Amino acid sequence: MPFQKGHKSFRTKQSYKLQGQKMIGRFVSQATREKIKLKATGRKFSKEFKEADSKRVKELWKKKWYRNKLVKAHLGQKAWNKGKKFVQISEKNHWNWKGDKVGYHGVHSWIRKLLGKPNSCEHCGGEGRYNGSKWSIHWANKSQKYLRDLTDWMALCVKCHRRYDRKNTNIIINQ
Ligand SMILES: [Zn+2]
Repeated sequence: MPFQKGHKSFRTKQSYKLQGQKMIGRFVSQATREKIKLKATGRKFSKEFKEADSKRVKELWKKKWYRNKLVKAHLGQKAWNKGKKFVQISEKNHWNWKGDKVGYHGVHSWIRKLLGKPNSCEHCGGEGRYNGSKWSIHWANKSQKYLRDLTDWMALCVKCHRRYDRKNTNIIINQ
């Protein structure tokens, strides 16, 4: 629309805002995506703008309509992190590392690697020895959750462990 003297733009701040909200989560064709990309390439944003923008998105994310729109828009799309292994969230750094995904055997090898064979019983102080091929002192789990947490384990001889098991139903890990 050519500039016309005396004409006020019919678009107000409010209408711009509404238009922007309508665009969120809307389907965008591949060609349009390319155009947007081209336009944004090499564009420099000031630090202030970036900060303000990320703040704006964070605020928006608190709103239900915004989240719903984005969820709808991304339905059926391949998750951005699907099939990718992130070093920073694998192994120790994973929030679920203490979880039971590794299971009994995973924790078993973990505690053995870390602590080796227990030398003596924490209850009676008895020294460890071999009964055939089995070591006489076990790592007993206190919580039954097999936590990767040293405080969740104690070294018990077979005798003490049996006694302990009568009170608790904890499973032992044979060394
Ligand atoms: Zn003992």
